[in-house]
Amino acid sequence: MAMQTIEGQPTLVVRSENGLPMKLDALLSQMEPFGFAYREDFTPGGARIACTVLRDHRMKLIREGRWLARFGLRINAGLPQAGSDVPTVRVIPPGVLELRLEMCQDCGAVVVRDVSMEQWSGGRPARLYNQQTGETRLAPAVMRRNVVIGWYSGKRAAGREYK
Ligand SMILES: [Zn+2]
Repeated sequence: MAMQTIEGQPTLVVRSENGLPMKLDALLSQMEPFGFAYREDFTPGGARIACTVLRDHRMKLIREGRWLARFGLRINAGLPQAGSDVPTVRVIPPGVLELRLEMCQDCGAVVVRDVSMEQWSGGRPARLYNQQTGETRLAPAVMRRNVVIGWYSGKRAAGREYK
């Protein structure tokens, strides 16, 4: 486990016991059959001190698409709650997930987020009223998850530059 700063937020990143492929290329090829809703490639410029020392990356969206999670994912969702030493664990059920991949413009590290829609237990269902038919129906409250489920390290610059 390692703390990374992602978009200015300290985020606990766990090593892959969660079923994500070990290599980014493998993840991309597993996503390919679903098609990508967004796709952009660029060449990272090279790790900066911010990346290697501060672990502060300048992330840019490279892919939006879907991926089949064959098993449920167990994710450390953050720091322990008050009065507990155990990090909050979040379980994401198996199935097709909507993923958003962002790459650091400098070192090429990639963060993988699950942004699937899910039922929101704290939400009240919305009452939808059709003015033409007079029909009313209830729509469950849904919201987008935003959970970091994986992290692929970028290339490090030559060690001598950052001694
Ligand atoms: Zn970086």
